Amino acid sequence: MAKAAKEAGYEYLVISDHSKSAFYANGLEIERIAAQHKEIDALNKKLAPFVIFKSIESDILNDGSLDYPDVILESFDIVIASIHSNLKMTEEKSMMRLLNAINNPYTSILGHPTGRLLLSRKGYPVNHEALIEACAENNVVIELNAHPRRLDMDWRYLSNAIEKDVLISINPDAHAIEGFADCKYGVLVAQKAGLNAAQNLSSFSLQEMMEFVAFQQAKRN
Ligand SMILES: [Zn+2]
Repeated sequence: MAKAAKEAGYEYLVISDHSKSAFYANGLEIERIAAQHKEIDALNKKLAPFVIFKSIESDILNDGSLDYPDVILESFDIVIASIHSNLKMTEEKSMMRLLNAINNPYTSILGHPTGRLLLSRKGYPVNHEALIEACAENNVVIELNAHPRRLDMDWRYLSNAIEKDVLISINPDAHAIEGFADCKYGVLVAQKAGLNAAQNLSSFSLQEMMEFVAFQQAKRN
């Protein structure tokens, strides 16, 4: 995937495997994280100046905590926090989980905020205003998942996030090279809401992304 991204003209790839709670998706157990990081370090030497950032899509558990201990979260450049389990819940419950995750200093990006799948799964209820407000306070980026079945966060809330200076990240949710191309769907709905490149994390240059990572890591201390 890194080679394909490089050949397509990208400066970097943020590789974000599923975490250990996502056993159905072969999520990474703690032992495999160190192996992956070793491999990334080797590839970064080989593919330079292209950079692979170490990221993870960590599950937000029932109580709103992330599914790795802090010492493991510390080893990632970027942590994306997402809900993948127990999706049938009240708004009170979903907001408790989401706000806990947003308040976690290890969280850099909130993944697909409602979990919806267009035409098949409604997504749990959330208070978008409160969620955007919390992301503004904690410098958490909100994902616009560009998979055509997701397009989550919904474009209708983007203007609210823009007003609050919350960064959006149009992410392809690519599970294979072909998935990179899904970015275009995210870009189209984001343009509809007036989002410009400076307001989108995944449009950042390599230099800007490195600064973003440093900023997120400083937040942890
Ligand atoms: Zn996900």
